[in-house]
Amino acid sequence: MLSPRLVKNSLIAKLLRVDGIVLYPFIFFASKNPNDVLIHHEMIHVDQMKRVGVWRFYFLYLKEYCACRLKGMNHHKAYMAISFEVEAYEKEGARPHHLNDYF
Ligand SMILES: [Zn+2]
Repeated sequence: MLSPRLVKNSLIAKLLRVDGIVLYPFIFFASKNPNDVLIHHEMIHVDQMKRVGVWRFYFLYLKEYCACRLKGMNHHKAYMAISFEVEAYEKEGARPHHLNDYF
């Protein structure tokens, strides 16, 4: 799997109204200087893609989001309930050594 390319000050991220998003093999950030925790959060999603496969990641991600919306959750609650997000928010504070490669 290719190492992701980090794109900062990204119009795509701004248009999607997100701080960061992995559209593999790119990670788009709205900020010119995304913080370590945000970069790590997005890198965790890349690790998840390595684990389950890129297409399967997006399929499962959308499936879980849609299931939560159908249960009546609002956008934010549904987003926070996605298992990939639960894992990423749990782990994002612990910065791994390999992240040094991106600074
Ligand atoms: Zn996330």
